[in-house]
Amino acid sequence: MAIIEINNISKRYRNADTNAVEDVSFSLEKGEILALVGESGSGKTTLLRLIAGLEHPDSGIIQLGGEVIVSGRKSLPANKRKTGMVFQDYALFPHLTIFENVAFGLKGLNKKEVEQRVHDTINLTGLKEDVKKYPHQLSGGQQQRVALARALAPRPELLLMDEPFSNLDTILRDQVREEVRQIIKAMGITAILVTHDTKDAFSTADKIAVMLNGKLLQIDTPDALYNDP
Ligand code: ADP
Ligand code: ADP
Repeated sequence: MAIIEINNISKRYRNADTNAVEDVSFSLEKGEILALVGESGSGKTTLLRLIAGLEHPDSGIIQLGGEVIVSGRKSLPANKRKTGMVFQDYALFPHLTIFENVAFGLKGLNKKEVEQRVHDTINLTGLKEDVKKYPHQLSGGQQQRVALARALAPRPELLLMDEPFSNLDTILRDQVREEVRQIIKAMGITAILVTHDTKDAFSTADKIAVMLNGKLLQIDTPDALYNDP
């Protein structure tokens, strides 16, 4: 069964004369990592935000884990969706500790369960020594891991990442990319990452979707795309 299924989603921003996302459809199975690539302005971020509920489409249907979360103009609020989001600039809360940042999205759990969940997630992301620190005391790579831990702690069905590696230098980028892939695979989580970097796409993803002018041109495995560029 598909974890996420998107059917004919379109979105036009107010005052725009073309659709930012135009009739996009695709689905992903549980555990698959999809890289969304395409030139700047092709609609990648908009598509991610539509899935997260940070933007609303004009038409189309989105199902997540068998539940309809978008149907035309009716859509479930972002905080009710089982998605986790990692932003390009990490968007950590500067006045909260690493522990508090990771605990932030956890609802309906008692204090002990929150502690357990945060520690489990933090161990997985290798941040054990840093729980009492504040974001500014960490390197870019470490902040990236905190952002990932915060997105994963509520155990979302779908992880969404917008240019997650673009603020890292080249060497760190190779390392963090591999770590992120391993963490996602270890959790068996389904993920979509937006990137303009083909190396990110080819080394992290199981499938690559190419966007142009709001349309999804092609979606395939890295091997198939490499042999048919
Ligand atoms: P990408 O992530 O591929 O760079 P975007 O989804 O950011 O593409 O943008 C797709 C198109 O929508 C672009 O033409 C962009 O200028 C436009 N766009 C993006 N965000 C907004 C917005 N908030 N208001 C109006 N137009 C927007
Ligand atoms: P990205 O390429 O990573 O999507 P951009 O630099 O295109 O980022 O956009 C940064 C911000 O500006 C986003 O919040 C986007 O929604 C907004 N934006 C982009 N294009 C437009 C536009 N034409 N009109 C209004 N807001 C826009």
